Amino acid sequence: MRILIVEDEKSISDVVLAYLKKDGYEADTASNGLQALELFNECRKKNAPYDLIILDLMLPRLSGEEVCKQIRLNSNVPIIMLTAKGSESDVIAGLDAGADDYVVKPFSPRVLLARVRAHLRGISGNEGSEDSSSIIRIGDLDIDLTAREIRRGEKAISVTRNEFLVFLTLASKPDKTFTRDELISKAFGDDYDGFDRTIDTYVKNLRRKLGDDSNTNNTGYIRTVHGFGYRIASE
Ligand code: CA
Repeated sequence: MRILIVEDEKSISDVVLAYLKKDGYEADTASNGLQALELFNECRKKNAPYDLIILDLMLPRLSGEEVCKQIRLNSNVPIIMLTAKGSESDVIAGLDAGADDYVVKPFSPRVLLARVRAHLRGISGNEGSEDSSSIIRIGDLDIDLTAREIRRGEKAISVTRNEFLVFLTLASKPDKTFTRDELISKAFGDDYDGFDRTIDTYVKNLRRKLGDDSNTNNTGYIRTVHGFGYRIASE
């Protein structure tokens, strides 16, 4: 497994690199946005793409947000962004740009490492202890717990790991309205220091990708329950 660390503060990037290596990962570092894109494209051309990217948002030459958008033009590689503490609007912007997840600075390298492992497990598809043969059906969509993907017919719909987990949580109990806090703790675990509003961003991205009509929140797969949260209707 190879990871690209994009971070302009050398002290942070050194610590992250050391932790990843100790855990058996290979990793490269880039100290600005352009260098990150160069490395990313180089590896893709060599047919050895990175398995995950850790991306600081405030970067010289090209912002993390822009790097994320560029990568998303042709790759679904998991992207975990690093963002300054309390900057909720940065987190929303990063998720909108296509990041999968975020870790707030200052962070514990152990927490970051746990998040890295979780995303890489998500790729190889052996996470969790769900019944590995089950498929949940929502309307014309199949949620495949083995492949960890959402399909319409034969066609897989590309969603990020966290979007998948939010949709799966809602779909596991159709008609139940989940609050944002409930969604965060059920989808990501209790130790996840998520902002409420990031759930709104995951739902917005899901609606777009699943083809829900974004103008009405009461006809698509995911319904908004004003003042409470979200639910999936069973019919
Ligand atoms: Ca920075």
